[in-house]
Amino acid sequence: MSNPAISIIGTGFVGLCTGVGFASKGYQVTTSTHDPEKAALINSGVPPFYEPGLEKLLQKTVRDGRLKCVVDQEEAVLSTDLTFVAVGTPSLPHGGIDLKYVERAAHEIGEALGRKDSYHLVIMKSTVVPETTEKVLKPTLERESQKQCGIRFGLCMNPEFLREGSALHDTFYPDRVIIGEVDKESGETLERFYRDFYAEKMPPAIRTNLATAELIKYANNSFLATKISFINEIANICNKIPEADVKTVAEGIGLDRRINKRFLNAGLGYGGSCLPKDVDALVSHSKKCLRYEPQLLSAVVGVNSNQIDRAIQLARKTVGDLKGKRIAILGLAFKPETDDMREAVSIRIIKKLLSEGSEVVAYDPVAVSNARSLFKEAIQYADSAIECLKGADCCILTTEWEEFKKLKPKDFVQNMNNPALVDGRRIYNHEEFRKEMGFAAIGLGD
Ligand code: NAD
Repeated sequence: MSNPAISIIGTGFVGLCTGVGFASKGYQVTTSTHDPEKAALINSGVPPFYEPGLEKLLQKTVRDGRLKCVVDQEEAVLSTDLTFVAVGTPSLPHGGIDLKYVERAAHEIGEALGRKDSYHLVIMKSTVVPETTEKVLKPTLERESQKQCGIRFGLCMNPEFLREGSALHDTFYPDRVIIGEVDKESGETLERFYRDFYAEKMPPAIRTNLATAELIKYANNSFLATKISFINEIANICNKIPEADVKTVAEGIGLDRRINKRFLNAGLGYGGSCLPKDVDALVSHSKKCLRYEPQLLSAVVGVNSNQIDRAIQLARKTVGDLKGKRIAILGLAFKPETDDMREAVSIRIIKKLLSEGSEVVAYDPVAVSNARSLFKEAIQYADSAIECLKGADCCILTTEWEEFKKLKPKDFVQNMNNPALVDGRRIYNHEEFRKEMGFAAIGLGD
């Protein structure tokens, strides 16, 4: 199969960024969605979400006729050789994952495979708990297509590691490619494709079985979450020792190459579309399906959720009772360079403040429209950081956008009613803030 045509089921962050990445290297890519408005948007070169660099590359690939979006999944499968499944796997209330999109996609792909004569490879990219590809995707594909997996079509599990905010970079330069395979031909077909796509930049590839590939993704995100909760635990210990500074502790341990400095920023903890969902899913799957109590990961979740309460306590320490106080929230997105607010820490903080009777005003460089659909009129929205600070009694910084790093102590003092700051991402020099301006500026972990 040389220069295979590619279809991608699901055009969210993963599906669209991956599709645009493949199309930009000359592959013919058909993405698919059930939403005609979204398809029209993509076909006119407009991404349905914010991701740096995506709009430009999407426009180019659409203009060059390399990428299109269809609402007909059958057309997508029948006109291509490889189908990547990149549908959402959102959390269920008890922490497990909802497989309804995976099941529907499997059904649709299976039906199309039943009408296809030539070999086709299906690649699971969505994050799913171990054995889902084997026990959910594979039997559905076989049932709907009336074909045997491994003979008439192939199946791989190829977890995705891209980060929102640098999704295109990560698509072109991943640290590794993980290929879980039902049989050798499936794995070889996918590895050949990636060797062609990455050429001399081919990252290390690991070929394994489906369940191991699925678990690698969960282990990866659980480890990152563990690093974050670990440094937050150390920050909370530092908090009890007047002379101890968590930033320097993180620097000190981060220089140890076995540890490295990334994901050691103490603060409000992790949020976003992946870490909370994936750690919760692994904990829930271990307890419910594997009858194993994952003590370490349960503690990671606990430490993370406590950080929100700590931020609220700090705000209370600086301004007293929060009822009726005007609180400025700087940052709504779960991290900089994205407008994604799924499981963003800002949501939990705003909900707590509202329940305490505070008046909330928020600003984010790109996520305000997502916040509006979530909070509607319950909070106020500012057009700039300075406007957000105006008249506020306390500011809680929740996202470490570059533009917030440029704010000076005088910006807080001159604009706020009562200059008090809870630096939830520890982006400011607190000593300098406190010395120069003499107001309550405090970082989580100080
Ligand atoms: P998303 O919710 O942004 O996008 C999924 C899209 O699939 C939605 O637009 C949905 O409408 C569409 N969809 C659902 N069923 C469909 C079907 N049958 N046919 C066509 N479209 C369908 O999700 P995402 O953030 O892109 O994540 C996708 C998967 O990748 C998840 O399992 C996630 O855990 C994983 N993942 C996400 C990231 C990330 O940074 N967002 C990184 C790595 C892995």
